[in-house]
Amino acid sequence: MSQFKFEITARDAGARSGRVETPHGVIETPSFVAVGTQATVKTVSPDEMRELGIQAIIANTYHLYLRPGVDTIRKMGGLHRFMNWDGPLLTDSGGFQIFSLGAGKEHGVGKIASIFPEERDRGGHFKARGKPLVKVEEQGVEFISYVDGSRHRFTPQGVIDIQRKLGADIILALDECTSPLHDYHYTRQACQRTHRWALRALEEFQRKPGKQALFGIVQGGAYRDLREESAQFISSLDFDGFALGGSLGKSKREMGQVLEWAVPLLPESKPRHLLGIGEIEDIFAAVERGIDLVDCVAPTRMARNGTLFAREGQRFRIHIRNARFKDDPRPVEGGCACYTCQNYSRAYLRHLFEAGELLGMRLATIHNLCFLESLMRRIRSAIAEGQFSELRREWLSSPNIPDQGA
Ligand SMILES: [Zn+2]
Repeated sequence: MSQFKFEITARDAGARSGRVETPHGVIETPSFVAVGTQATVKTVSPDEMRELGIQAIIANTYHLYLRPGVDTIRKMGGLHRFMNWDGPLLTDSGGFQIFSLGAGKEHGVGKIASIFPEERDRGGHFKARGKPLVKVEEQGVEFISYVDGSRHRFTPQGVIDIQRKLGADIILALDECTSPLHDYHYTRQACQRTHRWALRALEEFQRKPGKQALFGIVQGGAYRDLREESAQFISSLDFDGFALGGSLGKSKREMGQVLEWAVPLLPESKPRHLLGIGEIEDIFAAVERGIDLVDCVAPTRMARNGTLFAREGQRFRIHIRNARFKDDPRPVEGGCACYTCQNYSRAYLRHLFEAGELLGMRLATIHNLCFLESLMRRIRSAIAEGQFSELRREWLSSPNIPDQGA
C-alpha cells in the first residue's frame, strides 16, 4: 500500500508549506528537487547532496530507459540502490524529452523556446536529419533513440511499467508536452490526448498498487481555457499529486497567469509540482501561487558554465569568468555556508574555469545547490512565520529587477 502522505503545515496568503512523506523519507515543502537526469546530479555525490540539504532528486525515465536500460537498473536493485541515493526520488514520464527532441525538427528550427532547453545541448547526440524523431498516435508515441537511432514506443501503460521497475517514490503519467510554437488547435488536441493517456496510466497504476505515488500532469500551454479544462480534468482523477507541465508562455508574466488559472482548480490536499522551473524569481512566483515542488536543470547547468548564484548579481547570478573576479579574494557569496564559499575565493574559481579544471564545475555546482536550498529553507520558515511577502520583497526589490521579457 502507498506510504505516500501530504500535509500542509502552514499557509501565508497563496503560499503554503508542508510535508510530503515518501517510503524514502520526507520532503519539506516548498522544495527544490535536484535534477539527476542520468541517475546522477552532475559532479556531486549523494553524500554531498545530503550535506547540502537536498531533499529529493528527479531522474529521467526516457534517458535511463535508453541507457543503461530498465532491466539493468532493476537487476542492480532499483534506481535508489543503483545511484546510491536513499532519499525521496522522482522519475518523470519521459514526455518532455521525447517532444523536446522532436519539436525542433518538426518546426524546422534548431533551438526552440526556452521550455525545451534540452534541445540546446544535444550537439553530440544522434539526430535523424530531416526525419521526424517523434510520431504521436492515440496509442502512444514512437521515437528514435538519440543514442543509437533505434525505434521505440512509449505508451501510457508502458511508461508506468518502466517507472515501476525503476522504483522511484513519485512517478509521473505520460503526457504530450507542447511548446510555445504550437498553435491553439494543436495544443488542444495534445491536451485532450494527454487526458486520455492519464486515464490509461492511472488504470494501469491502480491494477497493481505498490508503494509508489503517481502524479498526473496538467497541460494546455498558455491558453486559459485549455489550462482550466486540463486542471479540472486531471484533478478529477485519483492521482496522488499534480504536476504542471508544458509551455508556461513566453514571459514570466504569462507563467504567473498560467499558474493563476490552473492552481486554484487543483485540490488543496494534494501536492503540486511545477516542472522545469528553478530561477530565483520563478520560484518566488510559483510558491506565491501555491506550488509545493519545483525542479530545474538550470542551477546545475549554469554552475557548469561558470554562472553562480549571488545576491549581488544581475538576476542573482555572476559569471565567474568575468575579468573583474581575477583578483577577488571574496567567496562567491558572503555568508554562504557551502564548502565552496567556506574555502575558496572568486579568484580561484575563476582560475579553475579559465584553466578548464573539473573542480571548478564541482565547486560551482555545490555552491548553486546550497544557495538554492538555503533559499528554500528561508521560504519555508517565512511561510511558517507569515513573512513570505516580506521575504519576497527583500529578494526581488532593486537592484535585482526580475526580467519581465521573454
Ligand atoms: Zn556557497
